[in-house]
Amino acid sequence: MNGKSWLGFYGAAGNVTGSRTLIHARRGGVLVDCGLFQGTQVEREQNWQPFPFDATALEGIVLTHAHIDHSGAIPLAYKRGYRGPVFCTPGTAELLEILLRDTGRLQEEEAHHRNWHGWSKHRPALALFTEEEAAAALSLVRIVDYQVPFHLGGMEFAFHRAAHIVGSAHAHCRLPSGPTVLFSGDVGRGDHLLLGDVPPRPVADLIVCESTYGDRLHPALPSIDELQAALEPVLARRGIALMPSFAVGRAQDVIAMIAELFDAKRLPVCPVYLDSPMAAKALDITAHDERELRPEGPELLRRARHYAKITGTQDDSKRLNALRGPAVIVSASGMLTGGRILHHIVEHAGRPENALILCGYQARGTRGRRIVDGEREIKIFGQPVPLRLEVKCLTTFSAHADREGLVRWLLNGPPPERVYLNHGEPGAALALKGALEKILPRDVRIAVARGGERVDLNFLQDE
Ligand SMILES: [Zn+2]
Repeated sequence: MNGKSWLGFYGAAGNVTGSRTLIHARRGGVLVDCGLFQGTQVEREQNWQPFPFDATALEGIVLTHAHIDHSGAIPLAYKRGYRGPVFCTPGTAELLEILLRDTGRLQEEEAHHRNWHGWSKHRPALALFTEEEAAAALSLVRIVDYQVPFHLGGMEFAFHRAAHIVGSAHAHCRLPSGPTVLFSGDVGRGDHLLLGDVPPRPVADLIVCESTYGDRLHPALPSIDELQAALEPVLARRGIALMPSFAVGRAQDVIAMIAELFDAKRLPVCPVYLDSPMAAKALDITAHDERELRPEGPELLRRARHYAKITGTQDDSKRLNALRGPAVIVSASGMLTGGRILHHIVEHAGRPENALILCGYQARGTRGRRIVDGEREIKIFGQPVPLRLEVKCLTTFSAHADREGLVRWLLNGPPPERVYLNHGEPGAALALKGALEKILPRDVRIAVARGGERVDLNFLQDE
């Protein structure tokens, strides 16, 4: 009755975006995460390719968390005929509601922009999916709490807290014949200001583990100290600090830290603008998901909301053009791929008292990565923008475990038979493989997942 079980790596293999792993026990199988490819043009163009599986035959989608590189292709699956359930935790469902609609709207705006300026090779330029399609896809969401088993495609699944962002989970799967597979999703770092510790992982025979920071160790410096050191001189010279931050997770961390620095009198109080409706909504969601937070988390968020002025409309945002420092603008699009922050850079990049402070992972091909690599002139809306303001790249901010954190997470339970490393650039995945080979028992087989690879799982059933 079990047939053949297999895993298919159809994204986030050899890179960090487009997470899509198929686990198959019968019929169409279950897709764990359904993310968008982001980063370089070549990577993004993969979003236009047909799926290497039949979306209409899938029995379900299991979503580890709401970040777009894990969830953003769900509307695409809907558009291509998928009508099955999308299982996720309550926190993920709330974040998904804002993230997917926003992604659809941005796709439409970008297509509109490209048509208007005649930039596209494709005429007319099309949106990958629309806001309406994103809204329709949201009707497929089925909410399941942590630790509650649910059945899908002949398998039993359960979510376990991953402490990466609100709602984030590892997905644990029991195959029909009994062996178990654990999908790490993104693993939190454990010392996060708002979220709690990463709990011990569930036991599994095979683990698919992320490797984003497999080749790096986070600096020992606490992020709040690094943020203070970056902001202090900017505010002292009455500059404006522009802080592009991922709307879900990072933006809330940054304003919570600024509130903490104000209250501890480690920074002079100045206006702080949270210029991203999505980040503002995510702040509300984070604040009311109290059980995911550290005991001091809710109070910290309450203070953050007290200090942050939320700019709702485009016009409110445009009014910040006339802003004079000292001030901080926290906006979305952490890698400068779009959104309101680009207008602020155009407006404020010419004055050396201002600063652009990058505070997160910068994927290949993004403006953020080019700036980290030293470029001081970037193209925005087709025009070159020289960066005369100070540029700082903070190194301690991350919602991911580093190499030691990932090793610790994997060791925190009986060893599996096999480990597949995905969600990492090749150097990062190989570095983590090397570290694990030294520590895990010799009979544990560790491999780096290859894009398009299909792994037979029946060996697990022979044990
Ligand atoms: Zn993530």
